Amino acid sequence: MSQPIISRIAPTPSGFLHLGNAFNFLLTALLVDSLDGYLHLRIDDLDGARVETSSVEDIFVQLEWLGIDYDSGPSGPDELFKKYSQKLRREKYSAALEIFRNSGNLFACECSRSEIRKLSPDGNYPGTCRLKELDLLQANRSWRFHVPEQTFVSFKTFSEKVEKINVTQAMGDFVIKRRDGLPAYQLTSIMDDLELGVNLVVRGNDLRNSTAAQLFLAQSLNDKVFPKTRFVHHQLIKDNSGKKLSKSSGAFSLKKLREKHQSAVWIYQETAKSLKLPFQHIRSLDDLKEVFRGVVKNNEGLEIMLDQGK
Ligand SMILES: [Zn+2]
Repeated sequence: MSQPIISRIAPTPSGFLHLGNAFNFLLTALLVDSLDGYLHLRIDDLDGARVETSSVEDIFVQLEWLGIDYDSGPSGPDELFKKYSQKLRREKYSAALEIFRNSGNLFACECSRSEIRKLSPDGNYPGTCRLKELDLLQANRSWRFHVPEQTFVSFKTFSEKVEKINVTQAMGDFVIKRRDGLPAYQLTSIMDDLELGVNLVVRGNDLRNSTAAQLFLAQSLNDKVFPKTRFVHHQLIKDNSGKKLSKSSGAFSLKKLREKHQSAVWIYQETAKSLKLPFQHIRSLDDLKEVFRGVVKNNEGLEIMLDQGK
């Protein structure tokens, strides 16, 4: 591959990180390492109401515990707030929102979450305000992007297979500016990835629809680079009852696991197990990297390993 691989890990500081986050970070770091790529740390801290100082600190503590080295990004909370915070990029997000507003593809929406849920069991927007022509500039309204019928985006998987997603079905008319005035996750995520030049995104299967929305936004901005990005949508780590882990999954928080195991070797082994790699001899992150590099080099079952979560 001629272009260097650029990826990122992107935690949100809205609670303590858990085993699922560790798996995502490690897989991203392993892929980047095996391809001699470049890794950013991007912290999604725009939503002030949800960001807790303890969760910001937790990110740095756990990354250090896991031994994950990144090439650029904040080295701690202070540097995050001074140099890297999404709050410092508000103007960029606003500029993008203006471009979309002027494109005529947005409409204002005054529906509450519960109103939407009542009308739409799958959670997709039922189109209630699409034709109301509500004023976009009035407060307390979200901005939705109108996604026309049969809108498709395609992307490349890690092994360069092309996958197609129907954005209309996956997302419907999605929010790019929230009722409280903040740019929505789909917008900030794609703007940040574009700025960082990301060309490999590693995320859980639960974010497959977000991939569709973000590719659609990149296309709408006439961006020619992001559509070349490769995506790995990996399986999610489940708790003992088979549910996906959340920020409140106490026993699986890295903080708790660290108290219990002290060394992160247990997590390296669990990661290897999840990836169907031999794990018994793994005693360090370097061991895990070596096993992983071997698989990438020989391309042995890498596709199956990465796509198994579908
Ligand atoms: Zn509405």
